[in-house]
Amino acid sequence: MTTNKLHSAKPGQLQVLHVEDNQLDAELVARALRQGGFEVSVVVVQDEVEFTQQLRACRPEVILADYNLPHWKGMEALDVLRREDLDIPMILVSGALGDMTAVECIKRGATDYVLKDGLARLPEAIRRALHEKNLRRLRKQVDEDLAKKVDELARSNADLEQFAYVASHDLQEPLRMVANYTQLLAERYRGKLDDQADKYIHYAVDGATRMQTLIQDLLAYSRVGRPEIELKPTECDVIVSSAIKNLYAAVRESGAIVTFSSLPTVMANSSQLQQVFQNLIGNAIKFRGANPPQIQVAAEEKEGAWVFSVADNGIGIAPEHVAAIFTVFKRLHTRQEYPGNGIGLSICKRVVERHGGRISVTSNANGGSTFVFTIPVGTQAQPEGRFISHEHDGRYFVSR
Ligand code: ADP
Repeated sequence: MTTNKLHSAKPGQLQVLHVEDNQLDAELVARALRQGGFEVSVVVVQDEVEFTQQLRACRPEVILADYNLPHWKGMEALDVLRREDLDIPMILVSGALGDMTAVECIKRGATDYVLKDGLARLPEAIRRALHEKNLRRLRKQVDEDLAKKVDELARSNADLEQFAYVASHDLQEPLRMVANYTQLLAERYRGKLDDQADKYIHYAVDGATRMQTLIQDLLAYSRVGRPEIELKPTECDVIVSSAIKNLYAAVRESGAIVTFSSLPTVMANSSQLQQVFQNLIGNAIKFRGANPPQIQVAAEEKEGAWVFSVADNGIGIAPEHVAAIFTVFKRLHTRQEYPGNGIGLSICKRVVERHGGRISVTSNANGGSTFVFTIPVGTQAQPEGRFISHEHDGRYFVSR
């Protein structure tokens, strides 16, 4: 059926809006569609006003347009579709249309073109256009779902981080009370009650102290995840020296030799980056082998990033554990073998990733390990699209 009255298609009918001034051509097109297996409802219009009106009224699934009309140009239908923010395939159905014009029309957004003396091709062109539109819709749906999931994940991560921060912060005070008073108990009553009581008090003091360090570590870990960090030019020579100074007792006791030369200045949060060096050098000393620790800190510029390495001659790490050791509280040894809570490397990972870099470890041929991490040169790092650095008042920030 061909009409120029407002109406909508019956279920199962393909709703077509046809821009055409020639009634006979319109009838031929409708016939070609029926012959091609379509149940159609065609609305024919001749100018922009009618087109816009019918577009809104009958929500067509496909638009057919003659290229040359006395009062309008078929291609301008595309501008109306854009204005109305509608994704409806538009096929040009025209008399002779030069190749150049046809290509130009496709470039401008027409889905296809069919010549009036080749209408048998029209049903197939429509089927393909509808199929492509369907794929576009599905792809858009998938993209939207994905964006929603990423958003939900980011929000729930932020909630969790906030929770961990508040919990570890607020737990400190009552825990300090428990630790102080059990210590007081130990000092006052050690040796005055029976052996069993001494043992219990010792367990209580030990447990409270351990929990305190755990909570402090957790708080330190949460702090690294705060939404925004300030980046400043950071001289790595200086922060590595400070890290070594802070480790003075362990360096002296182990006879460690730490070497580094001409490290670069990078845009970073100095105290966080110093913490990374301190944790890595501290571990290199703690997990030493039979010989005194030899530790080399080095850096080289590669593909837009500074690649830092901290290599040791310690006990090494089995390949199957290299991924796990960067997770919170993951340790490969008991506290009796080596002290620690298993949070040092997770802090390193977090700091490095907040700066837009990556961290990994490999085993050395001599049995030791080499930790490698990157810090992007400059401030434009946007790892996995998650962090954006920006300048404000001459200061640089990285935020989520
Ligand atoms: P912690 O030092 O408190 O155990 P970390 O998160 O710093 O926690 O390290 C996790 C684990 O990774 C350590 O328990 C250890 O098994 C392993 N590890 C870290 N650094 C080294 C190293 N330089 N050599 C060998 N093993 C290491």
